[in-house]
Amino acid sequence: TLLLLSTLLRLSHLVMPVTGFVGMPTSSRCVSRSAAATVETAPRLTPFPGGAVGERTKEEAAVNPFDCDDTISPLVKSVAPSKTIEVHALTQEMKARGERVVSLCVGEPDFEPPPAVIEATARAAKEGKTKYTGVTGTLDIRRAICADLTRRKGVPYAAGDIVVANGAKQAVFEGVFAVVRPGDEVIIPAPYWPSYPELVKLAGGVPVIVETTVEEEFMLTAEKLRGALTDRTRMLIFCNPSNPTGAVHSKELCEELAAVLSEKGGKGEGVWVMADEIYERIVYDTPHVAFAGMPGMWERTMTVNGFSKSHAMTGYRIGYLAAPPVIVKAVTTLQGQLTSCASAISQAAGMAALEVSDEEMQASFDIMRAKRDFVMKRVAGIPGLTTAEPQGAFYVLPDVSSHFGKTAPDGTVIGGATDLCLYLLRAHSVALVTGEGFGYPKGIRISYAASMEDLAEALGEFDQCIRSLK
Ligand code: PMP
Repeated sequence: TLLLLSTLLRLSHLVMPVTGFVGMPTSSRCVSRSAAATVETAPRLTPFPGGAVGERTKEEAAVNPFDCDDTISPLVKSVAPSKTIEVHALTQEMKARGERVVSLCVGEPDFEPPPAVIEATARAAKEGKTKYTGVTGTLDIRRAICADLTRRKGVPYAAGDIVVANGAKQAVFEGVFAVVRPGDEVIIPAPYWPSYPELVKLAGGVPVIVETTVEEEFMLTAEKLRGALTDRTRMLIFCNPSNPTGAVHSKELCEELAAVLSEKGGKGEGVWVMADEIYERIVYDTPHVAFAGMPGMWERTMTVNGFSKSHAMTGYRIGYLAAPPVIVKAVTTLQGQLTSCASAISQAAGMAALEVSDEEMQASFDIMRAKRDFVMKRVAGIPGLTTAEPQGAFYVLPDVSSHFGKTAPDGTVIGGATDLCLYLLRAHSVALVTGEGFGYPKGIRISYAASMEDLAEALGEFDQCIRSLK
């Protein structure tokens, strides 16, 4: 962590003179763009993220735009604090008081890793697979990843195209840092995974948020993509299936997006694609296709995937990036300085995970589908909610905005999604995540990777809660 921070601090010196970084926090550098219009979002970067050091006068701010004591780097301060913190803190408090809270917040499967993975973990430790591996991972696991990508996704990768990282999150981080230069625009369809805009800002880039709506089933269309591209666009971050919407873009839609990026003389030429496909195995009716397999896309796509979601291996911290050699070289350099390599034991466990049969894997995904169906049925019965049926991952993101402005029985006014989540937790002991951190302030995210009992209880309470608002 120290190494990572010191690297970032050093990078901040590189970033500041080029981008006018010093002036950045006082105005938004986060551009929101729909196909029709270009709008500046409300300022998100303030000198005091989270209000940690309180208000200061204009004069004080002019002397030192960031902080009174300068302890923390402005680069780190520009990162938005997690919006789930408030709900999480209250959940912990209630639990500490001995109260029962049903939480549908977490982004991890509720099943265990396959038994073969657990056995391989113990075996690896006993057999001395406890040393550093090469930076990009063992040759064995990289070969196994290639074989898996070729067999299931039809995308040809060689072992030299793979970097095994400490989780998909690190792979996304490294991929963004490999190409995003200060001032570069990065297109991020909203609702989005909260880390994307924060990573882009850390790299000195400008997140360009492209709204998608529940009515459009949260799909990024060719038209919207074209409307967001500019001469400064460097990357598209494409999360498919999506956290938090569960949207799965079909093969046809992916081909259309690829065609926009390939248009001769168009602004998409030379744009990199960060294809975050960490949920690709958890899909329902729309089959998932790898973006790197779309015409002309292999050469400019960084495919990110891992074991956290498919094999319930969140705590193993292992994921990977598959990309053309120029990117692999850059990412390897970065990772060599950041963490050396992913855990050797986790790499051995990852090998075992790739050997688990499709049938065994499918059994857990079928249970997830049953949970999706159950949640959709219950949500459909709650008044005033608009929802798109998720085709992948394990999240539902209903629009709850028709209830904003109403008052709860205890007098609480529900001004927005965060208020609703906090009230639901206080009055009904159910924890859900506000959509605000996902770039979707109209909604709340329900993770249905939970037991059927918890889902039934939580949704029953949610229904009562909504009906009690006047
Ligand atoms: N991408 C997305 C869209 C995710 O939801 C997550 C996990 N929440 C990750 C990447 C990171 O996964 P990992 O545990 O492999 O770092």
